[in-house]
Amino acid sequence: MSGPCVTGGCLCGGVRFELTEPATAAGYCHCTRCQRRTGTAASAQARVDGNTFRLLEGCDLVRAWCHPEGGFEKHFCGECGAHLFSRNPDNPSQMSIRLGAFDGDPGVRPSWRTYVAYAAPWEPIPDDGSERFDEGKPSFS
Ligand SMILES: [Zn+2]
Ligand SMILES: [Zn+2]
Repeated sequence: MSGPCVTGGCLCGGVRFELTEPATAAGYCHCTRCQRRTGTAASAQARVDGNTFRLLEGCDLVRAWCHPEGGFEKHFCGECGAHLFSRNPDNPSQMSIRLGAFDGDPGVRPSWRTYVAYAAPWEPIPDDGSERFDEGKPSFS
């Protein structure tokens, strides 16, 4: 029996990570920062407890960027540019892993959409029944 995938990495393979517990929740973020960051309409990410995250390889490759106006630090591979995760610099237990960074099925499905008020005009938000928030999600989990 195989459970949810708890490992992942970047495009070039230099960065590898694992979670000691599977992710339990996920959502899409439609904010303009995520549009810029990903080059797409929305970012799909799983929220995890940062204490369950282990960086296995590529510590020297991971770069973090923090927006001058604050918010979660965006971590990516400095070699291939792949987006990996974001973390609250004031509370490292608050962390999101990009769903595309997992090696396989992380087991969770996106169930909400945040910052839909800023959604890209060129891609309609699918009517998929997910909970929608004009701004951020009121609570982290
Ligand atoms: Zn890489
Ligand atoms: Zn966002």
